[in-house]
Amino acid sequence: MCGFDDLPTEVFEQIIGDVKNPQDLSSLSRCSRGLYWAISDKLFTMAFDKRAASKGIDHAVSHVFMHTVKHDSQHLIQWLMFRQHGPRLRGPFPLMQSFTFLHYALLQDAPKVAIQLLKHGSDLDEDAALYPDLKSLYISVARPHSNSLGALDGALRIACSYALPRMAEYLLIRGADPNTYSAFGFAAIHIAVRKRVPWAQFKMFARFEGQQDLETALWNAKIARTAQVLIRFGADSNLPIQGSRSHSCGPKCWKSLACCPKEQRVLHVAAGGGSLAVVSMLVKQKVSFFQADGEGNLPLFHAMVQGHDEIVTFLIEQMRRVQRRRKVSTNAVICKSTQSTLLHIACRFGYSDVVSALIKGGADVNVEDGLGRRPIHEALGQCAPDMEDRIVETLYLLSENDASPDVVDCSGTRARDLGEKHIFSGVRALFEYATMARYEWQRLTESRQPEKTEM
Ligand SMILES: [Zn+2]
Repeated sequence: MCGFDDLPTEVFEQIIGDVKNPQDLSSLSRCSRGLYWAISDKLFTMAFDKRAASKGIDHAVSHVFMHTVKHDSQHLIQWLMFRQHGPRLRGPFPLMQSFTFLHYALLQDAPKVAIQLLKHGSDLDEDAALYPDLKSLYISVARPHSNSLGALDGALRIACSYALPRMAEYLLIRGADPNTYSAFGFAAIHIAVRKRVPWAQFKMFARFEGQQDLETALWNAKIARTAQVLIRFGADSNLPIQGSRSHSCGPKCWKSLACCPKEQRVLHVAAGGGSLAVVSMLVKQKVSFFQADGEGNLPLFHAMVQGHDEIVTFLIEQMRRVQRRRKVSTNAVICKSTQSTLLHIACRFGYSDVVSALIKGGADVNVEDGLGRRPIHEALGQCAPDMEDRIVETLYLLSENDASPDVVDCSGTRARDLGEKHIFSGVRALFEYATMARYEWQRLTESRQPEKTEM
């Protein structure tokens, strides 16, 4: 197939002269590397000059650069650097204020492009306020062969925080250890999968990638790819978060970043993190969904606390398959330290569809936890402002299925007392109606003891 390299120069030049169409490039690239480079230079120049003539040099450089970053192409960045306008790449990126071309390459996950920029004298503009600071990532990309042990580990954790899978792979190949801890007790994989919002300019970067409407999907895909890379390079999914502070969970943990039980493993962190793609990837890797964190909570518990409905449904389905096979109850204990069942926690956070399915499956609505609390106590303990409808719906379900409002827990708290003084008017109305109905019943029967209490 080859042989173009041996052609006389005149013939070679004539072939190049006949190339007019970009589609010629891919077919010719299969023939000869030398010819490929000669022709690609001609076609890139044609495309560049055309754009520069219509929209200006800044736009043409930025446009080709963004394409280069998207594919993390070493060849294209070299082509661009050695063009007439190459030195512009050391300066500010025209499409984003206070960002340099180097910022763009680092944050758009293009390590090969970043290396070339660094080699040719690019620097970070200190004015761009970014958290976490990109400096250690920038230093590690510039000097990946440092001799000091662990020199790349901090940079790897920063790449994971920004969800940069190509950058993470680049650092792992050069010896970064995915299982070392930060000063706050997190390994790279905890940082990659934990709950957080995308970094400040991610929305704009998603727009540059042509995916402005799919910002959340793009972010979740990047998180999943980062976690996958870490696992491929030996990240331990059983590694617990380090830290000795204990935390006891309650109704106030709803969607709270302060909910941080100790010794969470990767699946606990991921379930609370909110990416179904990551959770299902970990489950495929045989990470156990029955494993408890240091406070006794299963991964399902973390997904419920943070309100991630898709992950809740997924984990319940996975657990059910195993429970049916083992012929054990589907209303499993999901917080071992307090012996709270799935029904307790579903009531605490108003998952009425889960409550309904459990009751249909034969769960006992008056089941006690280790402190004598029943599911109705859990539902009535919830006061988060956005929860009223969910809690009222859950209480209806419990009431319909004969949950007693007169149950008392180990501390002497009667469910009915909680309901009558509840902060939600919808909940009080349920109990006020029940109270009036009870008095009416007493008056009619002239009995001091009601035959049957209703909620
Ligand atoms: Zn908590």
